Amino acid sequence: MRTPFIAANWKMHKSIAEAVEFARVFAPLVRDVTDVEIAIAPAFTSLAALRAALGTSRVALAGQNAHFEAKGAFTGEISVAMLADVGCRHVILGHSERRALFGETDAFIAKKLRAVQAAGLRPILCVGESAVEREAGRTFDVLRSQLEGSLAEADPSHAAELVVAYEPVWAIGTGKTATPELAQEAHGFVRARLAERFGPAAESIRIQYGGSVKPENTADLMAQADIDGALVGGASLDPVSFSAIIRFRERRAGVSG
Ligand code: PEP
Repeated sequence: MRTPFIAANWKMHKSIAEAVEFARVFAPLVRDVTDVEIAIAPAFTSLAALRAALGTSRVALAGQNAHFEAKGAFTGEISVAMLADVGCRHVILGHSERRALFGETDAFIAKKLRAVQAAGLRPILCVGESAVEREAGRTFDVLRSQLEGSLAEADPSHAAELVVAYEPVWAIGTGKTATPELAQEAHGFVRARLAERFGPAAESIRIQYGGSVKPENTADLMAQADIDGALVGGASLDPVSFSAIIRFRERRAGVSG
């Protein structure tokens, strides 16, 4: 009942020309896919050109970050309204790189999340434990505290449009994917916390898995009850590989994953 949602996070990669070339190859590869929602979060500089290059394709745009203020003296920042203006439907918030490298706290992320919802865009809230936290048996404590903190200002009337990405930090860009069972355990925990916070709307919230997702491991991850999509970094930079991830059902039905 939850439509799978697979999003690309290009981080600080691709020039405008490279983004346009990606769209030229990628759009035809997913043109007939109607049962998976797709989004791409390029660098801010490529948003407008990518929108134009995707044309009538169903692929949505996402921002990689946003500030919670509407406008003002915030050098280097971008507002939610600016992202909406360029055609974004989603905004990634609280990515582990933002948390670890740029000091973003849950309280800061909570303000952004509220601003994204207020503007009618859809947040993709990232949560996940580090290797040290997992080894110390603190995974669930970390997830609980990130969810409570980052969702502190969330609008319950927009709960169903919220997307949460469970991204174990030790799996991001490392080639080490969580096993489907381990990921499902975390996703089930996340959904239970979302149910405490939002009630029955939690059943509609898509929970993406992120962390070294590849064409070979997507089908097994997606077979889990509470894994509703993927947030893909490295493997989303290549149009053939990202389209193979989106067409995971064909792999499940055919070649073993
Ligand atoms: C990410 O950065 O959100 C991510 C999941 O990256 P990768 O797929 O490269 O691990």
